[in-house]
Amino acid sequence: MKYCRFQLNGQAQYGLIESVAGRDTILRILLTPPEEADGDMESLHTRRIEPIPLEQATLLPPVRPSKIVCIGRNYREHAEELGHDVPKEPLLFLKATSALLAPGGTVRRPKISERVDHEGELGVVIGKTCYQPAADQDIRQYILGYTCVNDVTARDLQNKDGQWSRAKGFDTFCPVGPLVTDEIDPWAGIGVETRVNGDVRQQGNTRDFIFPLNVVIRHIAQAMTLFPGDVIPTGTPSGVGPLLAGDVVEVSVGGVGTLRNPVVDE
Ligand code: ZN
Repeated sequence: MKYCRFQLNGQAQYGLIESVAGRDTILRILLTPPEEADGDMESLHTRRIEPIPLEQATLLPPVRPSKIVCIGRNYREHAEELGHDVPKEPLLFLKATSALLAPGGTVRRPKISERVDHEGELGVVIGKTCYQPAADQDIRQYILGYTCVNDVTARDLQNKDGQWSRAKGFDTFCPVGPLVTDEIDPWAGIGVETRVNGDVRQQGNTRDFIFPLNVVIRHIAQAMTLFPGDVIPTGTPSGVGPLLAGDVVEVSVGGVGTLRNPVVDE
């Protein structure tokens, strides 16, 4: 199953995507949001619409999370490039939901930062309420699907503040999309690539995670309830670097697609 969120006749809708002649196409809308299914997507009613090629749709972020829980330093080489030790347990931080940005939306570099970096990441979307799952429970049942996230970061303010809420929380600092799919398997290895103006800056594979997703989700849910729609950006590979006004930044996750956003100065 693949879905997006998009504008249809001035209203936000969830659109189910199928391949038509090799192109991702919206063929149906969900009459209730996927997060209301609480793990039972089969129960959701849909309605057929005039087919819309995904690239022609006015996309919105495909998620409406109660929180965005990020993992820091989940790829060994990235921890090393920032001069950090490899962590012993997953490192968590929160990103403001007001930072969400649609596919194609414009990232604004704040005046008070001189260094805004891209961090291309696989994003996990939660499908079912999860709190302190039993040790024998399969964590995959809590996952609705996967998407691309750019965990945009004001690196100078991250270092200056000593904690990360401001540096990672500016409006427009969390592009997500273009769609959510459950048709990939990060445990088997999924490529994550970031490009700036077409040049490859970051390349990683989820098989190199320090902490696999079941460990990450258990660790988060030990502390806080994960609700349907919550997003977990799972850490960035090495190669983080600056974004400048006029750049176009792209995050591609294998089997998901490409999240593309232009950059301007505020
Ligand atoms: Zn990150």
